[in-house]
Amino acid sequence: MTDSWYAATATPFPAQPPLAGEVRTDVCVVGAGYTGLGAALELAARGATVTVLEAARVGAGGSGRNGGQVHTGQRRDQEWLERRVGEADARALWYLAQAARTHLLDLIGVHAIACDFRPGLIHANHRPGGEAADAAHIAHMRRAYGHDGFDLIGKAALARELGTDVYHGGLVDHGGGHLHPLNLALGLARAALAKGAVIHEQSRALAWRREGGAVVVTTANGRVVCDQLILTGDGSLGALDPAAEARVMPIHNFLLVTEPLGDRAEAILRRDRAVADSRFVINYFRKTPDGRLLFGGGESYGPGWPRDLKGFVRRPMLKVYPQLAEVTITHAWGGTLGITRTRAPYVRELAPGVRIAAGYSGQGVMLAPYFGKLLADAALGDTAGFDLLARLPTPPFPGGRLMRWPLTVAGLSWYALRDRL
Ligand SMILES: Cc1cc2nc3c(=O)[nH]c(=O)nc-3n(C[C@H](O)[C@H](O)[C@H](O)COP(=O)(O)OP(=O)(O)OC[C@H]3O[C@@H](n4cnc5c(N)ncnc54)[C@H](O)[C@@H]3O)c2cc1C
Repeated sequence: MTDSWYAATATPFPAQPPLAGEVRTDVCVVGAGYTGLGAALELAARGATVTVLEAARVGAGGSGRNGGQVHTGQRRDQEWLERRVGEADARALWYLAQAARTHLLDLIGVHAIACDFRPGLIHANHRPGGEAADAAHIAHMRRAYGHDGFDLIGKAALARELGTDVYHGGLVDHGGGHLHPLNLALGLARAALAKGAVIHEQSRALAWRREGGAVVVTTANGRVVCDQLILTGDGSLGALDPAAEARVMPIHNFLLVTEPLGDRAEAILRRDRAVADSRFVINYFRKTPDGRLLFGGGESYGPGWPRDLKGFVRRPMLKVYPQLAEVTITHAWGGTLGITRTRAPYVRELAPGVRIAAGYSGQGVMLAPYFGKLLADAALGDTAGFDLLARLPTPPFPGGRLMRWPLTVAGLSWYALRDRL
């Protein structure tokens, strides 16, 4: 599928046949990432017929390529949500995110998904002076939400744990963690198939339209006639829906893994917790079960990817771990994710019975399987969770069709540059 370390260590998953001809199904799901598979599993488990159309292979999008970092909460913190959507919705969104975490761990447990979940994630400050804000956030979360899963970690303790002194302390998220993302996606697909869902790989949805009381989705070699349509695809849905295209912008992010570090692995990431730092272009890293460093860093916003991916990600890695200069990098890869202007996910009903969830802005591992479940709930008539998410503000990127992309690239590049100043 790709030259990723995830693909090299994935649990075997048989190819699913492309769609050929016409099928009739209760719900058609476009996209076999966490959102689509989470929806398909829920629908099939509750007795609906469901057909998943996947343009490439299961987990080919961000779900099979990401950093595997599990963050507690929504992508935006509670203070931001309280200001933007009011206290009642902010509170409901917090409990929804906590339910998403429970749901993820239940899915892993109930379906015996071997994805190496490890608890603990650290948000590390790349500049001094972050401690007061971290302390205020922890206090707010304790006071307003009764959440005691966040703690401060000081500079010296962090340096001892990570084996690098570049960070100025940070916040420990005990409810977060890390996992093998592709094996999570493949495990969800296996569970959905076992419940009766049908998955067609190499079956890109080209268009959809309402036809009488039904929705018709077309691919190059077939069509699906359904009562309800669920669109996923994060940053890669393209022109399948113009409103989504204006609000969910695809960006590319890159990772590498080193060779197994042997004894050197003992000196870094001693407690096996994941790390994400405070840069605009986040550096994120963790150890794999076989003692490699898995490091993500560097983004690109244009149509092409950097030619030398290993060199591209090695640069930020060596700023954090200069002692690994001689280590061999065995795999480097990238992926595309969707971001929104507010970084809140884009969840909408586009037409009666046609719903979308995308634009997790880098926080889909924990949220997306549950958002898939909420899309399934809505398709089956319970829209409470969906309606809450659909109220999140996700305005279009400015500039209209022609100028949207260059304006956004300029803005993102400016913020990325500030990391280096
Ligand atoms: C490099 C990278 C690192 C990341 N790191 C993290 C992280 O550490 N933690 C975190 O929480 N999040 C992270 N993310 C984000 C996370 O991966 C996504 O939020 C999540 O995977 C979104 O899941 P999804 O199912 O909505 O979309 P995807 O996983 O992108 O799946 C969408 C699927 O839809 C398919 N598709 C698209 N268009 C069509 C079409 N027309 N017809 C049929 N199929 C179609 C695609 O092929 C794809 O398989 C990262 C993303 C990337 C790329």
